[in-house]
Amino acid sequence: MENKITRRDAIGKIAATVAIAAVAPGALAQSQNSNTNKANAKELTDPRNKYPKPPFNKQSQPFPGLAGKMTPVPDHGEKSYVGSGRLEGRKALITGGDSGIGRAAAIAYAREGADVAINYLPAEEEDAKQVIELIKKEGRKGIAIPGDIRSEAFCKQLVSQAVQQLGGLDILINNAGHQKANESILDLSSDDFDWTMKTNIYAPFWITKAALPHMKPGSSIIGLSSIQAYDPSADLYDYAQTKAATTNYVKSLAKQLGPKGIRVNGVAPGPVWTPLQVSGGQTQENLEKFGGDTPLGRPGQPVELASIFVQLAADNASFATGQIYGATGGKGQP
Ligand code: NAD
Ligand code: MG
Repeated sequence: MENKITRRDAIGKIAATVAIAAVAPGALAQSQNSNTNKANAKELTDPRNKYPKPPFNKQSQPFPGLAGKMTPVPDHGEKSYVGSGRLEGRKALITGGDSGIGRAAAIAYAREGADVAINYLPAEEEDAKQVIELIKKEGRKGIAIPGDIRSEAFCKQLVSQAVQQLGGLDILINNAGHQKANESILDLSSDDFDWTMKTNIYAPFWITKAALPHMKPGSSIIGLSSIQAYDPSADLYDYAQTKAATTNYVKSLAKQLGPKGIRVNGVAPGPVWTPLQVSGGQTQENLEKFGGDTPLGRPGQPVELASIFVQLAADNASFATGQIYGATGGKGQP
C-alpha cells in the first residue's frame, strides 16, 4: 500500500518536475553536469597523512641551506600545483624565491600566468636554477637576481632590475627571512641580532620603498609574518620580534596604501618544512619532532601555502587588505 503511487501523486510529481524545469531551465543541465563531474571527482585526501610526519632525521646545513639537500625534500608544487590563469599577465618579485615558501609561491604564480623575478643569496644558485627552469617551462619570464638584501643599495638595485626585466611590477612578496635559534639572550651577539633585523625588517622597508613608485592601483604587497608573532618561542627572541613587526607593518601600510588602491596583506605560517629550519632555525631536538604538536600532527609543506599567495594577489581578492592569513595547521592565532 505504502509503495503504491496513486494517479493523483504521479500527476502531482510530473507537474512539479515540469514546474521546476520551467522556472529553472539550468537545473537539469546542472544535475547532468554534476553526474559528469562525479566521474572526474578526485579522492578526498586525509590532511594528516598527506605529507611526512615526525620523527624527522636530524640534519644540519650551513646557512642558508638548500631545499634539494633536505631529507625529505620539501614539496613546493613542482609536480602537484595546477594553475587556472588567475594571475594572467601579472609581474611579480619574490624575495627568497629559490626555496621553501617563496619557491612554492613562484611556481604557483608562473602556473597562474605571471612573470616572476626571484631574489636569493648567491649560495642558493642550485635551488634558484631549478625554480627559473620551472617558471620558463610555463612559458613565463623567469628572472634570477641574486644578492644580499641586508644592503640598502642592493635592495634598490634588485627592484630596478626586476622592474626593468619584467617590464613593470604589480606583485611584491617580501618573503626572504632569517631565523637562528639561540637558547639564551646571552648567546645572542649584536651582530646576530642585527643580521635578523636587517633581513626581516630593514630589507622589506627598503624593497617596498623602491617598489612603490612602480606599483599601480590593483597591485598587491604580501609580507611574511609567523605564528611567532603571536606565540613566540623561548629560543627565537630576535626572530619573533621581527615577525610581530611584520604583522604591524602590513596593517599600517594597508591603511596608508588603501586610498591609493594598493592592497597589503600578510601570511603567518606555523611550522613549514623548509631549509630555514635545517640551517640554524631549529635546534636538532626540535627538528626531530618538528610540526608534531599541530592538530594535524605534522609540519606543512610549502605547496600547501601556495594558493594563499595566489588568492591574496588575485583581482577577485579586491576587498582583502590589512589581513594576516594564518597557515599554521591549526595552532596559533593570527
Ligand atoms: P627558506 O630558507 O626556504 O627561505 C628563506 C629565504 O630567505 C632563503 O631561501 C634566502 O634566499 C632568503 N634570505 C635569507 N637571508 C637573505 C639575505 N640576507 N639576502 C637575500 N636573501 C636572503 O625558508 P622559508 O621557511 O620558506 O622562509 C620564508 C619566509 O617564511 C621567511 O620570512 C620565514 O621567516 C617565514 N616563515 C617560515 C616558517 C617555517 O616554518 N618555515 C614559519 C613562519 C614564517
Ligand atoms: Mg633558500
